[in-house]
Amino acid sequence: MADGSVCGCAACRVRAVCWPVMLIAAGSLLSLDLVWHAWPIWKTWPVLLIVWGVCRLAERLAPDTGHGGARPAQVSLEQRLYGPFQE
Ligand SMILES: [Zn+2]
Repeated sequence: MADGSVCGCAACRVRAVCWPVMLIAAGSLLSLDLVWHAWPIWKTWPVLLIVWGVCRLAERLAPDTGHGGARPAQVSLEQRLYGPFQE
């Protein structure tokens, strides 16, 4: 939000949790390879894509009631690219 406060809607909370979940998944896969020697990372890395997709899906399905501003996924590409430069 513009005033620096954190939005508390469900969609923003899910988005805030996604990156830590991705890091935990990456660390788990690396430990499976390097510590436990169970599965090599080059065989398990697609799990990260699945985790990322589940995060994106959860973010889209979460209600954004009370969200301040447009959701990033709903902002058009033109607005992302040229928004700061439009008059
Ligand atoms: Zn929000």
